[in-house]
Amino acid sequence: MNPYILQLQNITYSYHSLTGEIPALSDISFDVKQGEFLAIVGPSGCGKSTLLSIIARLLSPEGGTIVFQNPNGSLEYPKTGYMLQHDHLLEWRTIFKNVTLGLEVTHQETVENITYANKLLSDYDLYKFKDKHPGELSGGMRQRAALIRTLVLNPDILLLDEPFSALDYQTRLSVSGDIGNIIRTTGKTAILITHDLSEAISLADRVIILSARPATVKKEVSIHLTKPDDTPLAARSAPEFHHYFNLLWKELSHEKKS
Ligand code: ADP
Repeated sequence: MNPYILQLQNITYSYHSLTGEIPALSDISFDVKQGEFLAIVGPSGCGKSTLLSIIARLLSPEGGTIVFQNPNGSLEYPKTGYMLQHDHLLEWRTIFKNVTLGLEVTHQETVENITYANKLLSDYDLYKFKDKHPGELSGGMRQRAALIRTLVLNPDILLLDEPFSALDYQTRLSVSGDIGNIIRTTGKTAILITHDLSEAISLADRVIILSARPATVKKEVSIHLTKPDDTPLAARSAPEFHHYFNLLWKELSHEKKS
């Protein structure tokens, strides 16, 4: 069986406006393995969100191909779930009604799916808040609720576009650790866009560095950290952490100067 859930081959994309063409992606190729946690870093405006939109099939590439492999071996397109910087919880709905929104609009409110939603709420410490409204929860709890809303639809790939950047630093550390662990325990494939190098190193199995716009793949770095547990603090205290940080920093700072 193909070990890759996703293979991008020579992807190009440009935006077209009245003032001309804006090339965003140029000849992007990389593979993503089933169950892998991939982080993508690159200078601001280089094309990271564009790339994620292409993977989510919200945009069609101008050139190149994407080969998808459904984890169950079928030819169906794998299901993607999106998580963004803002949680977009609906303030007038309870947490339960928010996390089951996707099930409601796709008419999938089966007993099995509702039981799964309740299990996720319970596993991730939100069950006792299920009848509260988003305004009564902390930023970190809201992001966990947003992740559960995505997970109840059972996606094969999670696309995370700077999902922690609206949180304060301390909350960001703990929520990124929580969410990283949830993704790992559910065995999902994840692609995280972040501008925070420490976050990329502490969460990902592999980091892809993109060049300035139009983005090309500058470097791929596999991450292997010696750590006693999966907390963000343990990752940041690993002996290899600074080596990876310096490597990514050098690549990116060179990119900003060029
Ligand atoms: P990143 O996520 O790396 O910050 P984006 O993928 O959002 O970058 O954008 C890449 C480039 O494409 C940016 O220079 C941005 O200004 C441009 N861009 C993004 N969306 C549009 C659009 N709808 N029309 C024209 N240009 C766009």
